[in-house]
Amino acid sequence: MKKQVINILKNNTLGIDEIVTLLKAEGEERAVLFRESAKIKNDYSGNKVYYRGLIEFSNICDKNCYYCGIRRNNKEIERYNLTDKEILDAALYAYNNDYGSIVLQSGELSNSHFTSRITNLLKEIKKLSGGKLGITISLGEQTGNVYREWFEAGAHRYLLRIEASNPVLYAKLHPDNDLHNYYRRLECLGLLQKIGYQTGTGVMIGLPFQTYEDLAADLLFMKDFDIDMVGMGPYIEHANTPLIRYKNELLPIKARFDLSLKMIAVLRILMKDINIAASTALQAIDPMGREKAIKIGANVIMPNITPGIYRDNYNLYENKPCTDDSADDCKGCLEARLSMVDAEPAYGEWGDAKHYFKRTKKD
Ligand code: SAM
Ligand code: SF4
Repeated sequence: MKKQVINILKNNTLGIDEIVTLLKAEGEERAVLFRESAKIKNDYSGNKVYYRGLIEFSNICDKNCYYCGIRRNNKEIERYNLTDKEILDAALYAYNNDYGSIVLQSGELSNSHFTSRITNLLKEIKKLSGGKLGITISLGEQTGNVYREWFEAGAHRYLLRIEASNPVLYAKLHPDNDLHNYYRRLECLGLLQKIGYQTGTGVMIGLPFQTYEDLAADLLFMKDFDIDMVGMGPYIEHANTPLIRYKNELLPIKARFDLSLKMIAVLRILMKDINIAASTALQAIDPMGREKAIKIGANVIMPNITPGIYRDNYNLYENKPCTDDSADDCKGCLEARLSMVDAEPAYGEWGDAKHYFKRTKKD
C-alpha cells in the first residue's frame, strides 16, 4: 500500500481513483502523502503564512442552506449587523497590525442598500489604508454588475465556495428554489474570474451523503476551474439546522478533521501555486487544527478580528472557536502557535496567489 501511494505520487496524472486512494491513506502512507505536500508547499511558498483579518460583519442572511447555523429560518439566534464605524475600525486594526489583507464576510443579501453599502465601505477601507490593505470579500451570489462595482471599488479577491461540486449532492444540501441553484453558483464563479478577481472556492468535508469519490471530484473541479484560492474545511453540524437529522450518519468528527487535512494535502499536490487557507472550522475541532493544515500545505490563515461581542452570533456550527478572545489575544497566540510548526506570518504582504498571475498573464 505504501508503495501504491508512492507510485501514485510519482505519477503526474491524478484521477478520481488515485485521489480516493490518497484520501484513504493511513499510517505510513498518510505520512508519505503529508511529507510530499509539505515539501511542495515549502518549495513554492516557503514557511510564510499570509494573514487575512476576518471581519464577520453581519449574520443576517436571505438564504436557507440546510447546513448553516445563520440560515434565515433559524429563529434561535440574535441577528447583528456591525456599524460602518465598527467595520472600519476593525479594518484599521488589521492595517495597524500589519495584517496585509482583510476578508469581509456576511450572510447573503442582494438588496441595493446592502450592495451600495459594501461599495462605500470598500472605498473607505482603501482610503484609510492609503490603498495598502488587500481586500477579499465573501458575500455570496450577486449580479455581474454588483461584482464589477465591488471590484472597481477595491476588492480584488472573492471567496465563493461551491460547497459540493456534485450537483446532486448540492441539491440535497439546499432548498429547491432559485435562490439555491447549483448552476447559478457556477455561473457566479465564472463571472468573478472574468471580471478579474482572484477567485476562491471550496467545499465542506464530511457532509451527509458525501462519498470519497465526491471529494476527489471536488479537487478535480478546483483544478479544472483553474481556481486561484481555496478555503475548505470540515462540515460541523449545528443543532438548529435541517441537516442535524443525519448527525448519526456522519463520519466521527476526528475523521472529518483528518480527511480535511488530506484534502488540503492532495490539493497542494494538484495545484502547487494557489493559496490554500487553513479554515476556522479546523480550529473548532482541534485547537492546533489550522497550524496542522499550514504544516502540510495551507499558506493562508484568517485571524478573526470581528469585535468580540458579536462573535458568538456568527455561529455557523457548534463550538466555533475564539468567540471570547479579543483580536489582540488572537494575534499574540497565533504567532506562537505558528512558530510551533516552523511557520511565520508574512506581515504587511498581500500574499496574492502566484497562480492568479500565471492564469491571467497575457501572452
Ligand atoms: N454567505 C456567504 C456564502 O455562503 O458564500 C458567505 C458566508 S458563509 C457563512 C461561509 C461558509 O461557511 C460557507 O461557504 C460554508 O461552506 C461555511 N459553512 C456554513 N455552515 C457550515 C457548517 N455547518 N460547517 C462548516 N462550514 C459551514
Ligand atoms: Fe447564508 Fe452563507 Fe449560511 Fe448559506 S452558507 S445560509 S448563504 S450565510
